[in-house]
Amino acid sequence: MIYDTIIIGSGSAGLSAAIYASRAEMDFIVIEKIFMGTGQIAESERVDNYPGLYGESGYDLGEKFRSHAETLGARFIEGEVTKITPKNGIYTVSLEDGSEFETRTVIYAAGASHRKLGIKGEEELSGRGVSYCAVCDGAFYKNKVAAVIGGGDTALGDAVYLSKIASKVYLIHRRDEFRANKSLCRKVAEAGNIETVMSAVPTEIFGENRVEGIRIERNGREETLAVNGVFVAVGTVPGSEPLKGVVEMDSGGYIIAGEDCVTSDKGIFAAGDVRTKPLRQVVTAAADGANSVYSAEKYLSENGGAFREI
Ligand code: NAP
Repeated sequence: MIYDTIIIGSGSAGLSAAIYASRAEMDFIVIEKIFMGTGQIAESERVDNYPGLYGESGYDLGEKFRSHAETLGARFIEGEVTKITPKNGIYTVSLEDGSEFETRTVIYAAGASHRKLGIKGEEELSGRGVSYCAVCDGAFYKNKVAAVIGGGDTALGDAVYLSKIASKVYLIHRRDEFRANKSLCRKVAEAGNIETVMSAVPTEIFGENRVEGIRIERNGREETLAVNGVFVAVGTVPGSEPLKGVVEMDSGGYIIAGEDCVTSDKGIFAAGDVRTKPLRQVVTAAADGANSVYSAEKYLSENGGAFREI
């Protein structure tokens, strides 16, 4: 069978696309790398900026998106997409297990994954004190000392979250000012047990079997901080690998596409964090889900398919 579209990714963008594709009565499947996944939103303790759902936990919001898509009939397939091959207006989507699916359009919403620091000890102690998700692992740090690395919304949000559990949190940032929003900066300042360590570059995470501390370089001098855990929150890298050489990307690997999600290949649409965009938020990812289906429907109607009301 040749699908109208295959949605790749089940984060906010992919699930929103699934809702719109269901309502447009498209023949489609969603391919997701993680069974029953909902993407990065599941890692947010609390979402205060999604209209109408103030204070919702990220996990619950993701579950609501997912059950909404399921209620409308979306079908999910677990698997990792390794390659997307265009040929004569049909795209073959290849999975790691060797299976292949054919489709007339692709909505690529594979999101982004955690960027690594790439320093000594990070990989070795991953899962033994080094974490990329404060909401997932924060509970282990009751009355302990944690460090958070980064200066963006994620790092400051993580530091505030951990400050309610840990006895002390070091917030280590490589520059002398944060890029996070003002509200988070205020919460960090008000927390009382967050010590900001500015203009400091982490050089090593160390420990026998578990994290025992982190070394940083500040003002040309090496310093050591004793911590029980290190939360790395230094941004994300796009999951665009399967489309390398197929669609145009920027130097960071983000797929070049505007608000209509149209890429350099007219049958492939990029939605959510994986595309070039100024603001990566749940609300903009969900909007991309809608726009990508609208664009895919338009493309199908112009190329021999029916355009249905969405
Ligand atoms: P981000 O905004 O890209 O910030 C990454 C931070 O890590 C920056 O402060 C950066 O430093 C630092 N960094 C990068 N590489 C580093 C390295 N090798 N060593 C040390 N530090 C490094 O990433 P993010 O905070 O994950 O946010 C991603 C997107 O999601 C943003 O658009 C953000 O607004 C959004 N988001 C929104 C919310 C919310 O609205 N509540 C919550 C979470 C995320 P520099 O500042 O020096 O570049």
